[in-house]
Order: sequence, then structure tokens, then C-alpha cells
Amino acid sequence: MSRVVISFLGDPDKVGRAAYLIRGSKSILIDYGVELTKPPKFPILVPPHYIDLFILSHSHLDHIGAAPTLYLHGNIPALMTKPTLELGELLIKDFIKLSGEYLPYEYLDFMNLANNTHFLTYKKNFSINDVSITFLDAGHIPGSCQVIVEIDGKRILYTGDINTYDTRLQNVADLNYEEEFDAVIIESTYAADVHPPRKKLERLFVKTAEEVVEDGGIALVPAFAVGRSQEILLILYHRKFSYNITMDGMALEATKILLNNPGYIKNYKVLKKAFKKIRKVYRWKERKKVIKEPGLIIAPAGMLGGGAAVYYINKLYKDPKNAIFLVGYQAPGSPGRNLLEARKLKIEEREKEVVASIYYMQFSAHTDSNGLKKVLSSLRGDPKIYIVHGERRGREALYRIASEEYGFKAYMPMTGEKYEV
Ligand SMILES: [Zn+2]
Ligand SMILES: [Zn+2]
Repeated sequence: MSRVVISFLGDPDKVGRAAYLIRGSKSILIDYGVELTKPPKFPILVPPHYIDLFILSHSHLDHIGAAPTLYLHGNIPALMTKPTLELGELLIKDFIKLSGEYLPYEYLDFMNLANNTHFLTYKKNFSINDVSITFLDAGHIPGSCQVIVEIDGKRILYTGDINTYDTRLQNVADLNYEEEFDAVIIESTYAADVHPPRKKLERLFVKTAEEVVEDGGIALVPAFAVGRSQEILLILYHRKFSYNITMDGMALEATKILLNNPGYIKNYKVLKKAFKKIRKVYRWKERKKVIKEPGLIIAPAGMLGGGAAVYYINKLYKDPKNAIFLVGYQAPGSPGRNLLEARKLKIEEREKEVVASIYYMQFSAHTDSNGLKKVLSSLRGDPKIYIVHGERRGREALYRIASEEYGFKAYMPMTGEKYEV
């Protein structure tokens, strides 16, 4: 029987650039993402003919952003859920629009990936030669999955980005792993943190946003187009936020894709109703109208790296009546992180002091240290634990938890390293 080796082709020491190659009698590549720097950073190259199967855990660019490079010439069979392909298309198109000059591929190459894609749903099995693949719901964004790979007598789990907490938009991660694992590749984004109780945070968010609007201000919620924008909309709907809500930019298209995939969201009817009620902005002219009256605006991008949110914040930052609610992960060096840490905004190369209120309310789509403990508690057997997808602080925290509290053999792999399972 062949040896089974995992190669870490991306940067496991970052929240970004996920890429894992599992090599036994067949070669399986899981995720091929970028780090969203300028220019974007890519994983280590793999010759496409070397890969027998390509799997995508979900549609975020740190998992999918480099995938079209595998399809410049080749035809590798790919496996993912239907929303992952559809949301992936939306995000890749936008990525090409914003960063096309740095990218070694074009839209046609993504289409080649799409043409080679087989859809797999949760708890169903896909076999190719002697390799078996199963997806489990990861609870992270609609269509996201954990991947179980069975190859040459080894059973390997990749958690992908995972959420064990209930959200308005979707179900929690499925931790019914049933059999023993030999290896687990696990994310660690918030392994060093404990999230505040979700319901309490929801109440605080809605109450604060209402106060802003009642005082004549605008509450701007920069949010990731996929998942977070819809989650925010559902929170406002459930908590009966009674003022104008506007959604802008790519969040609108993402919502439409989700509504076409009812099996992957928790409550299709509620999302449909909530979406119907809000103002939708598609054109520049309408944006000018929106900022003339009090209300709440949901607009990507979540870290203020581009998109409609940048237009709005440039118009709103000077007025103390307005407020900006950062509701997701803010990567080091991103405009959102700079806003949080220094209350500064870069406008046309000049730093401006932000007068509007700034709130950080983390409605995370990643689980925290307690949730990761739950994942570890659900594992059977004595798998080796490979800790990835975290800043150093998170990775070290999970390393300690996995090895000291749970007695697992744990590793913090670095770019290019290989481990035999
Ligand atoms: Zn993700
Ligand atoms: Zn990720």
C-alpha cells in the first residue's frame, strides 16, 4: 500500500492561501486559494497533470482564488457543492475585475473549471478509483463543507473553515464523524478567542444601529457579500429593525444565488421575505439618494478593500451622527483593521481621521476556541492534528489545546512542508 503524504502548499500560518495536497496512490488537491495582498500571493505551483482530483471546500477567495490556474490547459475532475461553484463564479469575476492585472488566468479558465465540476451534496459519497470522498456541512457559509478523504487505508478529515455556532442563515457544522481518523487538518482562525454570546450581540447591534438612525445618522455595515450580508439582513428582520435598510453591490447577486439554493440555507422563506422588503441599489445615481436620509446600509466589501462600502464610508466618515459597524474578520493591513486600530481611513493616498462612531461586532462565520474543542471532542481514534488557517496566536492556542488538553500529536506545518500520515 502507498504511503500517504500531506503537502501544505499554501500558507498555514495565515488566514488565507489554503492549499493541501494529499498524495497516495492518487493525488488529491483540496482548495487552491490566494492571500489577498496586492499583488495577491499564490500557493506553491503544482503541475495540473499531477492531480487526479481537485476539491473545493467553499467559495471564499482564500480557498478558490488560485483554482483557475489549474485549468489553463488541463481538465482535472473537480468536486464541490453547487453553491460553491455559483458563488465562486461571482467572487472570481469580481476578483478579475479588481485585480485582473496580477492574475495569471482569465474568466475562460474559471469556465473550464466549471465544465469539469461534479456536484456533491452533504453526507453523500463520491468515489474515483480507490479514493472515496464525503462532504459534511461546515456551517461556515452556504455550500461550505468539511471533506473526508479515504485513500490507501487512511481516513483524513479537512475541516475547511468551520462554524459550530447557530446562525440565522444556516445550520451548524455537522460533527457526526462516525469512524476514526488518521489525520485531521483543522482551521484555527479564532482558536485564541471566545466569541460573545450571539443573541446578546445581536440585541446590542440592532439597538445601537436603531439609536444611530433615530438621531438622524446612517449606520453603515461593510459586510462580506457572501454569507455575512445575508446574516445581517436576517438579524435585522428577526429583531424587527423598523427603519430603511439598503443593500448594495455584490451582496445583492450573492443573495439571489442563495435564494436559488434553498437546500443550503436554514430558512429560505424568511430570507426571501426579508430580501423583498429592502431597498436594492444597483446604480451610482441611487447611491447619492441613499446617503441623503437616515437608515442602515449593508454593502461589501467586509474589510473595506473595495466595493460599494468604500463609496459610502468616504461620504459618511466626517459626520459624528453616522456609525460604521465592522462585523467580520479584519485582516492585518486591511483598511478595516486600520480603521479599528487607528480610526484612520486612507482617501486618495491621504490618511483621514474618522469622526463617525466605529463599532466592532464580530458575527463570525468561524467558530472560537470552545467550538474548536467541540470539534476535537467529536474526533474518534488518535489522529495526527495539523493546525492551519490562523494567525500565529490562534495556531499556537490550538496547538496547546490539542496536545496538552486532548493529548493529540499536533503539528503547526509551514509552507512547503510534507507530513506522512
Ligand atoms: Zn471562508
Ligand atoms: Zn478561509
